[in-house]
Amino acid sequence: MQIYKVGGAVRDRLLGKPVTDIDWVVVGATTEEMLAKGFRPVGADFPVFLHPKSGEEYALARTERKSGRGYGGFTFHASPEVTLEEDLIRRDLTINAMAEDDQQNLTDPYHGQQDLEARVLRHVSPAFAEDPLRVLRVARFAARYAGLGFTVAPETLELMRHLSESGELEALTAERSWKEIARALMEDQPQVFIEVLRECGALKVLMPEVDALFGVPQPEAHHPEIDTGVHTLSVLEQAALHKQPLTVRWACLLHDLGKGLTPKDEWPRHIAHEHKGLKLIKAVNERFKAPKDCQELALLVGEYHTHGHRALELKPSTLQELLQSFDVYRRPQRFEEFIAACEMDARGRKGLEQRSYPQADYLRGAATAARSVAVQPLLEKGFKGPDLGEAIKRERLKALKAYKEQA
Ligand code: ATP
Ligand code: MG
Repeated sequence: MQIYKVGGAVRDRLLGKPVTDIDWVVVGATTEEMLAKGFRPVGADFPVFLHPKSGEEYALARTERKSGRGYGGFTFHASPEVTLEEDLIRRDLTINAMAEDDQQNLTDPYHGQQDLEARVLRHVSPAFAEDPLRVLRVARFAARYAGLGFTVAPETLELMRHLSESGELEALTAERSWKEIARALMEDQPQVFIEVLRECGALKVLMPEVDALFGVPQPEAHHPEIDTGVHTLSVLEQAALHKQPLTVRWACLLHDLGKGLTPKDEWPRHIAHEHKGLKLIKAVNERFKAPKDCQELALLVGEYHTHGHRALELKPSTLQELLQSFDVYRRPQRFEEFIAACEMDARGRKGLEQRSYPQADYLRGAATAARSVAVQPLLEKGFKGPDLGEAIKRERLKALKAYKEQA
């Protein structure tokens, strides 16, 4: 049997990028031979094995054919006769379809190296169209390598457009889609992921609520970029520049969905968009079965981001309600993430990226003031049950009034 490094490990070495996980392909072997060497099978009907020591993935060279809709609709064929070239041709991009032996000899039948040099993301063969997940994968690689100057080849974009229009994207499971979305949002330029999806028509299918923001104007005085879609991309860009976690990036993407529902005769104003957007945020959350912390933060940021921007003008009682809505007493971290999302929203405006955001420290200070109310003295005064709850609230309100006066 011959063993080759494939995929990301080869690509990233040639790009001079750190290689984190290595995928291997094994040519000329049978399942029985792999098991005899101590490899552990990954799944019952999948020719993939884990190395007994390193735990890295070794896949038997295989061909695949589409036999139905969605991802279940594949039949794999692995046998010792399948060649390296046959295995590589079913891969998504030419830059991911190179293999390397232990002497670093490159097998590159589809000219991946040439495309690496030309900074092009190009599909390997028409079989690309057999798995709609590849639309998201290409957009994700575009987000990752945009900083190096990579773009999607026009003919690949055309194929992605065709896939998006054919209805195939709808067959993707929430789990597969979310995995790609989550990874893409954590890339260096997550806004490029959304841009590429939009360009090929996939955004309209996957997240019509986000797609609808393009072409919706906002008041120029607050939003020099005017377009709500452009603003959303800038907010995401800021979130990546400021190394925000996934929860914050997800909330940034969805925070203004309500603006897509504003009747045209109310443009460019968006009255109560925060509240109107909640049902859209909920729908997107559930469509992709986003993790609970992402879902919760997106809804809270959607509802309260304007409160964040107006923090310095909020009455102490409103501040108190805000803190209560975030359950800041038990979950201080979530309030921090809210503050971060608000700041990214403010910075995601044309020409205002560098402007300071004093609301952030003000909100932090308010949370600290409210949290500093001690319960013990109230217990000592004899408060119990609901009376104790009321007493704590009164003390917190007092603390917030004092905080606002001295701020
Ligand atoms: P990463 O750095 O994100 O791990 P990668 O290229 O290694 O990038 P993997 O998801 O680990 O990506 O997949 C390894 C290889 O398997 C890819 O390089 C590609 O050749 C192939 N591959 C993975 N998923 C698909 C798919 N859905 N369609 C076609 N080829 C795929
Ligand atoms: Mg990999």
